[in-house]
Amino acid sequence: MIFIKGKIFKIESKDYYVLLENNQEIRCSLKGKFKKIYSLKKNKLSILDVAAVGDFVEVEIADKNYGVISTIYERRNYLSRKAPKIKGATKRGERFEQIIAANVDNLFIVSSTTSPNFNNKLIDRIIVTALSSNIKPNIVINKSDLNHGFDINFWGNLYSELGYNLYYTSATEKSGIDEIRNVIHGKTNVFWGQSGVGKSSLINSLFPEFNLKVSKISEYSNKGRHTTVTSILKQIDETTAIIDTPGIREIEPYGIRKKDLGHYFKEFEKYILDCKFNTCTHTHEPKCAVIAALKNEEITIERYESYLNLLETIEDDMFFND
Ligand code: GDP
Ligand code: ZN
Repeated sequence: MIFIKGKIFKIESKDYYVLLENNQEIRCSLKGKFKKIYSLKKNKLSILDVAAVGDFVEVEIADKNYGVISTIYERRNYLSRKAPKIKGATKRGERFEQIIAANVDNLFIVSSTTSPNFNNKLIDRIIVTALSSNIKPNIVINKSDLNHGFDINFWGNLYSELGYNLYYTSATEKSGIDEIRNVIHGKTNVFWGQSGVGKSSLINSLFPEFNLKVSKISEYSNKGRHTTVTSILKQIDETTAIIDTPGIREIEPYGIRKKDLGHYFKEFEKYILDCKFNTCTHTHEPKCAVIAALKNEEITIERYESYLNLLETIEDDMFFND
């Protein structure tokens, strides 16, 4: 039997597509032993996926077109989200974790100045998701050529001051593209964006060989466009990969406790220790240093509102709150 190492680049229902070390692509199934792990985890209501895009694996080659994944190597990290609500879940708020991609360095959160409108709450939610997985968030504001009164500098400065890499791009005018190309080199980079922001156009400008379908403007709210495929990894060179997420429309962080959420808002960090209660959620508690900082305008109302917004969704997550 021949065993070759590789990396999962695409998953379609029960088919796992692996890029082998010899650069061959091969369709694989999972060895039976993993199915047992799967059902076990299912009873514990945790992770939905045994293997994910970006996983390093070992493949038992059955023939030249088909293999069996016999080993899944330990992940360095992974980007996950709360799985979309499952019909008939027994308890209110019961949610699974779904892995979007494994072994990731950078997350590029692609947004746009307009069509759809810039959505800072959404960006903050994705930043928290990335940070909670030890992945570096980067923010792209695309369609900078279409700036209809949108205060691009206000938002740009806010995120730059927080220390996140920020890129203004125009996929149509090909501006800001080289800056991104430089930072993704040698890394595994996930691109995520709301439908219509120009993520496909941007990836195509970065790597024309990707050749993603770009939608007509009117299509951007069409929810049925992508069905089974959720993430696709493309190896650019030996050390650089990018992962597109066409099927991932919503991302909500998984498994964060209410009392920990503030730690994922970078500018809250230096105040949190001064809150009177160490379980402070920075909402109604007396002597809250975060609220004091908000009143002194050391924390912006925009970010605080994002925090409140997320805090509410975490309350649904009965599972993780005592
Ligand atoms: P996706 O859904 O995020 O992958 O978005 P697409 O790449 O399919 O683009 C959605 C629409 O926005 C298409 O009509 C693109 O031509 C347009 N678009 C993408 N990037 C830009 C940009 O930088 N400027 C302008 N003006 N339009 C863009
Ligand atoms: Zn507080």
